[in-house]
Amino acid sequence: MRLRHYCGFCGGPLGALTGSKQVCAACGEACYHNAKPCAAVIILDRAGRVLLGRRAIEPALGLWDLPGGFCHPDETPEACAVREVMEETGCTIRIERFLDHLIDVYGSGGDHTLNAVFTARIITGEPTPADDVAELRWYDLTALPPVEQLAFANTRRALAALQTAAGRNQG
Ligand SMILES: [Zn+2]
Repeated sequence: MRLRHYCGFCGGPLGALTGSKQVCAACGEACYHNAKPCAAVIILDRAGRVLLGRRAIEPALGLWDLPGGFCHPDETPEACAVREVMEETGCTIRIERFLDHLIDVYGSGGDHTLNAVFTARIITGEPTPADDVAELRWYDLTALPPVEQLAFANTRRALAALQTAAGRNQG
């Protein structure tokens, strides 16, 4: 977690971290270090393969990630999931179910993220990489990229949870 030096409201000096906040010495506003809400989407095809995108930007440039991103201030994680998938793949999705909430850190020394993970199906469109995604590829759950090529801890955990659920369904 990165501490802040200056108040975002008045530019005054922020005090030490107490609990999860720093208070401005000048105006008294608090800077809260909440996790930033994000959505991540496990898009599955009829064959049970998952769609991964190779990141075109830092952090984790060149590594494989689930489509998704940061929620806008007025957005639910579900709406964020639909918007991000449209931006990154050009596809419309239907969310099937909520899988889990995963806490992570965005990049080295970055802010905490609260990742709402959903499973979804494509309704319209052919996946075409755009925005901060360089390449899109369907992966069989038994032949995912090696973990060191997955972008974030929450990517690895979401895919592991999916593999566990798929194994349960087969057994
Ligand atoms: Zn202030």
